[in-house]
Amino acid sequence: MNQDNPPQKSPGKELDMNPKPISVDPDYREIKKLLGKVAIVTGGDSGIGKATAILFAKEGAKISIVYNESDEDAEETKKTIEKLGVDCILIKGDVGNKDFCDDAISKTVDKFKALDIVVNNAGEQHSKENIEEISEEQLIKTFRTNIFSMFFMTQAALKYLKPGSSIINTASVVAYQGREQLIDYSSTKGAIVSFTRSLSQNLAKKGIRVNAVAPGPIWTPLVYSTFPQDKLKDFGKDTPLGRPGQPYEVATGFLFLASSDSSYITGQTIHINGGHPVNG
Ligand code: NAD
Repeated sequence: MNQDNPPQKSPGKELDMNPKPISVDPDYREIKKLLGKVAIVTGGDSGIGKATAILFAKEGAKISIVYNESDEDAEETKKTIEKLGVDCILIKGDVGNKDFCDDAISKTVDKFKALDIVVNNAGEQHSKENIEEISEEQLIKTFRTNIFSMFFMTQAALKYLKPGSSIINTASVVAYQGREQLIDYSSTKGAIVSFTRSLSQNLAKKGIRVNAVAPGPIWTPLVYSTFPQDKLKDFGKDTPLGRPGQPYEVATGFLFLASSDSSYITGQTIHINGGHPVNG
């Protein structure tokens, strides 16, 4: 990020960001670790989800992207995936709605005839200075989007998942560290860690693994559109690595948990956060 010229805020679209997030590592060499697999990625239009969807596609998986607003981001991501010679479908709607989640899973299986990997990544956050400023509406919506959605998507997906399938949830470093302006959001992320642990125990007997990725400060529209302008220029500088992460640096964690490289790992969280030591 150019610190002398802090970027202007956008309404949450990756295409409007300056500088743009880096979704793809140009030096990455794929070996088709996910060939023949089908993955659904919520929030796969931008940021961490986009980088994950593209990396999975490079590794051979067919991709279903769920998103809520930005048709432009979604179309751009789909085009990038199709250029790799991989099929991709876009499904627009609200993951906080159970009927929509049922429908998104059905559409994915109708199109690709299978489902192997579920990435529960869609999320929202709204920074507030004090708990009194968190409206009931914001509280309910943040919980619906960030954690209820994971129940809905998993319930719908279980009919199709089989031994060897993988569910990966996006948590956050704030689940462990807390964040004074994100009380509701960080509470959902703590719930996601507990959800991941409990669900992993429940699904182990079916041979389905459940893990989480807990990113630290990553340069994405979520941050760009919701952080106060004066804080953006220092975003990520308080990490030991001294900078924000890029989406492609998080996507590799999802790939590890999606592939058989992590076949003996379930109920765990990978911390991709620039070096903050966290418990659990
Ligand atoms: P992002 O804005 O690029 O992605 C969030 C995506 O979630 C949106 O693009 C949108 O498609 C989707 N979404 C939001 N509400 C939705 C809804 N109701 N229905 C369907 N889709 C919806 O930002 P990101 O940073 O890539 O966020 C991805 C995940 O990473 C989120 O769960 C976020 O909490 C988590 N995370 C991000 C950071 C960070 O610093 N960027 C840190 C920790 C965790």
